Amino acid sequence: MIVPNWLHQRAFLTPHRIALYEGEKEITFSELHELAKKKAKQLLRLGVKKGDIVAVHMKNSAKMVEIIHALQYVGAIALLQNIRLTREELIWQLRDSQASFVICDHAQSLQPMDNDIQLIEWAELETVPEQEGMLQTTYNLDDVATIMYTSGTTGKPKGVMQTYGNHWWSAIGSALNLGLHMDDCWLAAVPFFHVSGFSILMRSVIYGMSVYILPQFDAKKANEIILQQKATIMSVVSTMLQQMLRELNEPYPSTFRCMLLGGGPAPRALLDECARRHIPVYQTYGMTETASQVVTLPPEYLSKRGSAGKPLFPVQIRIEKDGKEAKANEAGEIVVKGPNVMKGYLYREEETKKVLKDGWFYTGDIGYVDEDGFLYVLDRRSDLIISGGENVYPAEVESVLLEHKAVKEAGVIGIDDEKWGQVPCAFVVVHEDEVVTEEELQQFCEQKLAKYKVPKQFYFVNNLPRNASNKLLRRELLSLLTGEGRSDER
Ligand code: ATP
Ligand code: MG
Repeated sequence: MIVPNWLHQRAFLTPHRIALYEGEKEITFSELHELAKKKAKQLLRLGVKKGDIVAVHMKNSAKMVEIIHALQYVGAIALLQNIRLTREELIWQLRDSQASFVICDHAQSLQPMDNDIQLIEWAELETVPEQEGMLQTTYNLDDVATIMYTSGTTGKPKGVMQTYGNHWWSAIGSALNLGLHMDDCWLAAVPFFHVSGFSILMRSVIYGMSVYILPQFDAKKANEIILQQKATIMSVVSTMLQQMLRELNEPYPSTFRCMLLGGGPAPRALLDECARRHIPVYQTYGMTETASQVVTLPPEYLSKRGSAGKPLFPVQIRIEKDGKEAKANEAGEIVVKGPNVMKGYLYREEETKKVLKDGWFYTGDIGYVDEDGFLYVLDRRSDLIISGGENVYPAEVESVLLEHKAVKEAGVIGIDDEKWGQVPCAFVVVHEDEVVTEEELQQFCEQKLAKYKVPKQFYFVNNLPRNASNKLLRRELLSLLTGEGRSDER
């Protein structure tokens, strides 16, 4: 299906509305459209063509938004790269995707680059003359708009092909859930190279909504923006929200209507604190392959706290166990279907076939749906611990550990055990000014968890292995044992 280019149409419909706030700067949709068109023509001059894969290696900024729209005007496919990747990971992605250009803030950090990949630095692009040429003022919804690599939490990252249609339906699904207000402004402190951040930009042009850009997350600054009534919605992951709460001494104004919390399991203690402090948290579940949210829980369902909610309007979910649909409250793999589900993994037909069957996407996550249709995400299938025939979900144990005031971070994995097959084992980072013993933590867990879920061993470490998306790499925890010594006290 052919639809108008979203920025083009938005600039025609509501040219004077503010598209972006960045520091003191305000950019209207009409200005953004002119800036993006100019950049598109400069990219044409540098040889970027329709269908090319062009990597974007930039920090959140209005400049990055311009580039994203410029690439859509050219009809090139944007490969959004995490700027926290190591050089090796980054080059691997560029080769894996066969990208031909990289647009970046600073070229120096990326050099030397492969010969067949052209580096384009923002400052240099600014000076390139424009070339007249066809700009894409329409989209085919089936065309690939973006490629984003999965976070690589469970294995090697895979390039996810997201179409214009995926982004469209993702934006529509979100609006049908959260509603649209004329004065909405979405605070963007999550990176645009993740689907959580990128989807804010697509919503902005589709809805005609302002975005307040933070170049990087800063808890104090984010609170300030909300308290000054400059933003009505914000997307966060739990560590961001935890930091914001620690800094916050007054209630948010009623104009702030949604704190969209996703990206990983939400610790129970955090949800409880938000409820106590009247923070309108919408818990949400989604992934790169579904172009952002698939399931969301609005705050009015207090009794369902801890659930990720019900599917967005265009989405269906189902829990599968042994090839059959599971009963209510029975755990199994979360399977989703909807127009926001990716086209497939780039150049990975076999892997795509494994996860996409009859339009259903097999998420690799385990969860259950209760009798009222609310989804509870338990954990990733690959991280499940089976101890004496009982299932232990590391996320649940980690969430309990995080309730202890001395615990800053926690990671739980299964280790082999003669009697039980596997037993849970915890890695804990303690807050700097706190002291806690293994025994205390064990007793704390025993009060809150069934015996078989209580970690049999605790290791105190200085930090936990995380990937460029700051997600815990449980598969690397075991190797910590060889590197870090075990101690009973800190
Ligand atoms: P990879 O697929 O390469 O291992 P990844 O799955 O971490 O990486 P993302 O697409 O960034 O890559 O993350 C999506 C995953 O994050 C989901 O599949 C799920 O495991 C987890 N997740 C997201 N939201 C929630 C949530 N509300 N509760 C629990 N887990 C969540
Ligand atoms: Mg994944």
